[in-house]
Amino acid sequence: MIRNKEAKTVIIIGAGVGGIATAARLGREGYRVTVLEKCEKPGGRCGQLLIEGHRFDTGATLFVIPELYAETFSALGERMEDQLDLRRIDPTYHLNFQDNSKLLLTSNRSEMQAQLETMEPGSYERMLHYLAEGRRQYTLSLEKVVNRDFRSLAEFINPGMLATFLRLKALTRHTSYASRFFRTPKLHIAFTFQDMYMGLSPYESPATYSFLQYTELSDGLYYPLGGMYRVVEALTSIAQKNGVHFFYNTPVTKILTDGGLATGIELFDGRVLKADVIVANADLGYVYSRLLPEDGEAGRINRKEYGCSTVMFYWGLDKQYPALGVHNLFFSGDYRKGFVEIFRETSMPEEPNFYIHAPARMDPSAAPAGCDTLYAAVPVGHISSRKFQDWPAIQARARTVILGRLAQVGLADLEKHIKFEASFTPPDWQERYNLSRGSAHGLSHKLTQMGYFRPQRAHLRYKNLYFVGASTHPGTGVPTVLVSARLTARRIIDDTGK
Ligand SMILES: Cc1cc2nc3c(=O)[nH]c(=O)nc-3n(C[C@H](O)[C@H](O)[C@H](O)COP(=O)(O)OP(=O)(O)OC[C@H]3O[C@@H](n4cnc5c(N)ncnc54)[C@H](O)[C@@H]3O)c2cc1C
Repeated sequence: MIRNKEAKTVIIIGAGVGGIATAARLGREGYRVTVLEKCEKPGGRCGQLLIEGHRFDTGATLFVIPELYAETFSALGERMEDQLDLRRIDPTYHLNFQDNSKLLLTSNRSEMQAQLETMEPGSYERMLHYLAEGRRQYTLSLEKVVNRDFRSLAEFINPGMLATFLRLKALTRHTSYASRFFRTPKLHIAFTFQDMYMGLSPYESPATYSFLQYTELSDGLYYPLGGMYRVVEALTSIAQKNGVHFFYNTPVTKILTDGGLATGIELFDGRVLKADVIVANADLGYVYSRLLPEDGEAGRINRKEYGCSTVMFYWGLDKQYPALGVHNLFFSGDYRKGFVEIFRETSMPEEPNFYIHAPARMDPSAAPAGCDTLYAAVPVGHISSRKFQDWPAIQARARTVILGRLAQVGLADLEKHIKFEASFTPPDWQERYNLSRGSAHGLSHKLTQMGYFRPQRAHLRYKNLYFVGASTHPGTGVPTVLVSARLTARRIIDDTGK
């Protein structure tokens, strides 16, 4: 990479997926890029824990929409196949219902047909129709919403876009849409639960998100050998190859401003660094309330709706549990009530659903021989300023619920085989990564916080300050954040006249 003396300097605050991918893109274009990260290594919510030979992805575990990853690698002059050893996971999920019946979601059509027809005659044909509709939603959302940088309200709200919203079924709730295809409550669950990945309740999310079920079952759900963290490692090393400098254990405490410009940043130790362009990858609400001068904007962002959070357990076990698939969901209690408890009451449901990830099923290198590595996630409400939330008690109850439920499906001895445990609650997410309200997914993806209505990619007053990451358009999830990085890098290149 050849740089001249006039090359613009860029400081990126945060080495999450969004910060790293923006850095790699700008580095490749000849910008002099420095990334400052508060933690000891890159990744943010796509993080990794290594304990006694056990390897855990701490946040993201599901590799979906491979085309968006491939686009990033290709824009950086690399091939995804050379960077990641991807293995398709099928069945995608082992779903365990309250009555201990199971459904294995699979792309194998005859296996899927046999299971669905037993649960609800005729439902297989209807699923094919549901997925075909999902494919339309997917193509349309990517083209008309996700891949676009809305620079004015008129680009988002116009007769053409209104027609698009109707075709995207943006005004239809996902659960009521799914009930047009399936009568059995278990199938409603099977074809809507993925909305939780966007931090949303399927009772409130638009039917557009049926594209998630399409993409998982048709384009595939993958696992990069080495874990999701391989994505972070690959992008970081490409960024370094493009001349980007990374500094860890280096929290930024302030964005310095002068009139209509951001002039630099101040570090935890008082050092000041100047740059032509500042990019904030740290969570948006935090940036407005803690790093920028107070001008009323922080209050506006904080009044917005946030997605849910999670209580996490990372268990190193001295025994293997082959009965668990790579991705397992356990459903309990009233599906609708559970979402009300999470999203309206910001609490943990009385009978929570949860997710277990067992990476060693796909990749033996995730655990020492004869051992297992398990990740358990219980969706819960985010931190609320309006009520007292007793997180240690919630965490203890989550643990009891998971172990009790696993005992019901024959894994009664699991607790006594736990060698060590790590755990995150919403306050841990907040403290470790500066996530507003400890929300795992940032600003909610409800309709009024999408597209142009999500906070702007460039700060309205400080003309050289940009944002990238889950709380910006298009939203949360690693592939989506990669799009955010593409749009932010493009905007910077356009604005700085390269
Ligand atoms: C439990 C969980 C499960 C998930 N599962 C999936 C999944 O299966 N698949 C998927 O695609 N996505 C998943 N996601 C979502 C995905 O991980 C995130 O959307 C994505 O990683 C967010 O990246 P980001 O760059 O926006 O932000 P972040 O990851 O939040 O990165 C921001 C970085 O900024 C740093 N920072 C903050 N403040 C400062 C400061 N003052 N100075 C310096 N640095 C600072 C933080 O430490 C962090 O490293 C999951 C998320 C969670 C939490």
